[in-house]
Amino acid sequence: MKFHMQVLIALGLGLKRNWHIFAGLLLGILVGVWMHHHPNMLLMNTLTFIGQVFIRLIQMVVIPLIISAIVIGITSVGDSKQLGKLGTKMVLYYTIITVAAVSIGAALALMMQPGLGASHYITADIASDIQAKVAATIDSQKGNLLNIILGFIPKNPLSSIASGDMVPIIVFALMFSIALAKVGDVNRPFVSFFESVFAATMKITDWIMSFAAPGVFALTAVAVSSFGVDIFASISKYLGVLAIGFCIQLFIVYPIFLKIFSKVPVMMLYAAIAEAMMVAFGTASSSATLPLTIACCEKRGISHKVSSFVLPLGATLNMDGTAMLQTVAVIFLAQAYGVALSPFLIVQIAILAMIASSTCAGIPGAGLITIALVLNGMGLSPEQLVAGFAFLFTIERITDMMRTLLNVTSDAVVCAAIADNENEINYDLLNNPEEYGDIIN
Ligand code: ASP
Repeated sequence: MKFHMQVLIALGLGLKRNWHIFAGLLLGILVGVWMHHHPNMLLMNTLTFIGQVFIRLIQMVVIPLIISAIVIGITSVGDSKQLGKLGTKMVLYYTIITVAAVSIGAALALMMQPGLGASHYITADIASDIQAKVAATIDSQKGNLLNIILGFIPKNPLSSIASGDMVPIIVFALMFSIALAKVGDVNRPFVSFFESVFAATMKITDWIMSFAAPGVFALTAVAVSSFGVDIFASISKYLGVLAIGFCIQLFIVYPIFLKIFSKVPVMMLYAAIAEAMMVAFGTASSSATLPLTIACCEKRGISHKVSSFVLPLGATLNMDGTAMLQTVAVIFLAQAYGVALSPFLIVQIAILAMIASSTCAGIPGAGLITIALVLNGMGLSPEQLVAGFAFLFTIERITDMMRTLLNVTSDAVVCAAIADNENEINYDLLNNPEEYGDIIN
């Protein structure tokens, strides 16, 4: 069969398999637009409740899943030389993808100049709930970069687990797993324990996913109802730059990346992870999508050894979509306020966006908090900063949904490339979407 036919079949099957989530997404957009024009408290509260049930259910399994996946992943690689090789490759691949994202974001924003003449609709005159969020955000980012880095080292791993601070949890889980791998056979009881935790959390994920369609529907409807469609007209240039950037990343950068570094057919991979891509868009959370990303990769040909190591780290540290948004948003504000963008400043923005994006948690809205790190040093006055933030907050959710879709897809892209390099892909399964089973079983 010709390859493009196979790709079409893969996409068709992806849609057929996931039609209910896809329908939930489309219906959510329609109902959201309708609710924006016909506010209905009861409907809004009901949908918010349904969406929150779905999000909370997945959040419930994320921490045990991340810790157990990292322990199993690292101890199954075992040998520290191989682990070092795998880890270095992972960091390199994630960096390449994020450098591409910030470069494309910067190039598009400089070429299309979405911020020129935009200062009139950036105003601090906004709803009080947004004002409160803005003030809290600016306040939370008062610390400098060194303090942020210091915060990655957990003083007490249990309190990080209790408060759900992902980066310190990952740091501890990594060190703990490497130590377990080094101590030899005495690690068996602990590793078996985490194997049980992993298997049980994946089982719960299966159950939760049977609720994915109504969950995604409700979350999307509530999100869309908060901004409606009129917003697109007033800031179409800014959203246009973002949309073009996201599409370039999805349809040009990832395919080229996979072509250069592996022999993974990109469309087959997209078909394999279609459920995760849709849930990422609906939930705007890489962490919440993680259980599903792992399930999609593992059930469709990528080995557990690679996915359990690469995906949890990616869901927390690899945020290329967020990095692109932060670059575009900061250049947009600079243009709106007439800040001169020297080549030095542009490189500074790009580097800070890479750091700020990887320090943000995989939860809704996190990227807009760490963007303060990039905005510092732009020479904006406090009033401009508040107004700029307020503007970004008003269109936060839609851009979050788009960037999270990229964040999750690139995790899977890097995971597939590494699995290919390590001979850890079952191509007979990956390239035969007819054989894919449901995630729910
Ligand atoms: N919501 C994004 C994610 O979970 C993070 C962000 O806010 O950019 O990947």
